[in-house]
Amino acid sequence: MQNDLVPQALQASFNQFLHYLEQLDSELPAKCPYCKHREFSQTRAMPLTFRCRKCAKYFNPLTKTPFNRLQPVRWLAVIFIGRVNLFTYQRLADELDCSVKMVTHRDRAVMHQMQTRFPQLYQWYFTHNDMVKNAPVSDLPKAVNTQHLAFKQKITKLLMTSKAKCLYCNSKNTTKISERTAFYCRDCRRSFNLLAGTPISRLRSADKWLEFIDLLVTKHDQNTIANKLGFDTGTVGNWRRVWCAMMRQWDFDHLATWCQRRGSF
Ligand SMILES: [Zn+2]
Ligand SMILES: [Zn+2]
Repeated sequence: MQNDLVPQALQASFNQFLHYLEQLDSELPAKCPYCKHREFSQTRAMPLTFRCRKCAKYFNPLTKTPFNRLQPVRWLAVIFIGRVNLFTYQRLADELDCSVKMVTHRDRAVMHQMQTRFPQLYQWYFTHNDMVKNAPVSDLPKAVNTQHLAFKQKITKLLMTSKAKCLYCNSKNTTKISERTAFYCRDCRRSFNLLAGTPISRLRSADKWLEFIDLLVTKHDQNTIANKLGFDTGTVGNWRRVWCAMMRQWDFDHLATWCQRRGSF
């Protein structure tokens, strides 16, 4: 299996290590992990279990390895490939429906074994993933990242609109009357808002909109966002609800789901 993110020189190690992870729990151990005796018998097939003929202890292929008790074993390869593809621990936890701690614990065990068996691959994997930590934006799932940028562009464009046709009489003789998107028509003398009828039509502090969206997308919890923007947490909760509704209205569903989910942490 070729992975585009792995350097050519490391492809072979990558495949070997992946293969190793995939069949960890079906590999016959060479000796008893407790007393090193080479004679033992199989006592169960599912899960594969052995009993040492000398010390009489039971063991499986993972006993005394960093992967001991890290079931299910197939998660290890999923996490390894996920990390190679620059997925966050959070995303992997979401996909495997487990805690972030369970993912980090397994990734550490994977790295530990990689360091002994494939030191060069380990060196690369380590820096590769370190890069992710320092670049929170590229770290987002691709669909979320794309929608995040497109959504911000759309909001920016709206906020910067200085000329708009009157929604009532189509006149171009209008003037912008707020920092947001409100205009006044000099012909029919009515005011109108480009965001009328949307969830954010009454939202104030437009100078903080983009920053808020960034904070919402890039992992921050309610309190951190509140502190950064000088809001109370109630306002943050309200803004999150309103912005997620706005995302849905414009069909930015991946983004909305991502931001909503973040709200529960
Ligand atoms: Zn033994
Ligand atoms: Zn008008």
